[in-house]
Amino acid sequence: MSGDLRKIAFIGLGNMGGPMAINLVKAGHEVTGVDLSPSAQEAIKKAGGICAHSISAAVKEAEVVVTMLPAGKHVDAVYRGEDGVLKHAKPDTLLIDCSTIDVESARKVAEAAHEAGMHMIDAPVSGGAVGAAAGTLTFMVGGSDEAVEQARPLLDVMGKSVVHAGDAGAGQAAKICNNMLLGISMIGTCEAFLLAEKLGLDPQKLFDVASTSSGQCWSLTSYCPIPGPVSTSPANNDYKPGFAAAMMLKDLHLAREAADSFGAETPMGHRAAELYEQFCNSDGENRDFSAIIQFLRGGS
Ligand code: NAD
Repeated sequence: MSGDLRKIAFIGLGNMGGPMAINLVKAGHEVTGVDLSPSAQEAIKKAGGICAHSISAAVKEAEVVVTMLPAGKHVDAVYRGEDGVLKHAKPDTLLIDCSTIDVESARKVAEAAHEAGMHMIDAPVSGGAVGAAAGTLTFMVGGSDEAVEQARPLLDVMGKSVVHAGDAGAGQAAKICNNMLLGISMIGTCEAFLLAEKLGLDPQKLFDVASTSSGQCWSLTSYCPIPGPVSTSPANNDYKPGFAAAMMLKDLHLAREAADSFGAETPMGHRAAELYEQFCNSDGENRDFSAIIQFLRGGS
């Protein structure tokens, strides 16, 4: 292909990868999609992309490979497996993994890519399916300056902000640290509202005070877990996600594994993971993560 238009293989066309791949098609790139699901295959064809039935077929002519897969084991298999990217893509291919996975898998795959003569970045996102469709994701990126600069025009198509966090794995590290903080701050915000209820304090008054004083945080001012104060928060829409509790639990598990492996003390992160586990096991997994307030109140 000529100019800035690229031949891209996109592997993993689910809730996030599907709309991200379609945005690349709309920007004029030649996108060959791969997914196990027939409906995802149909969707990329309908949007003007090409559908391949194996990774080897999709990547052999690609200049860039993007992946958006559920977890570290899928990413490892897709890159390092027999029919995998590293065996079949050309040397010099740019590899962009946007999945949220553990730091160790991200570093291991990046190392293998480097040995195969390819350039790889980890580029997990925040912004959810709505941001993926709108092209307004935030990318947290780990990798060399050169690889990040090569990837930037494509990341700019799929998102609105790119933070280069450091070397391989730094994007994943930034993502799980941020989301551990988010899980903890959401539970803290819920607890403040539940205590206010018991004390007979009007929740709107707590919001008015905390949102303009030292209790201020994103979980309160942008994503308030009680209906009323923030019109766009899922609490006003029967706690439909948004960001599902199961996704929060996945990220808290990644944070806990990283803390255990690297020897970090994260007692609040561990407790947040336990509470989200209990909430998910009591039918909360498909609800928005802010619905944990109902579980903490004692009636999930
Ligand atoms: P999803 O389950 O909707 O999509 C994953 C897709 O990968 C599926 O369509 C599946 O068929 C495909 N897949 C799995 N193994 C494959 C293989 N070997 N070859 C080809 N395709 C394969 O998940 P999602 O919601 O799109 O999430 C993807 C990633 O993005 C996850 O790591 C998730 O943590 C992260 N993420 C999701 C959100 C969100 O709100 N959904 C937000 C931020 C980050």
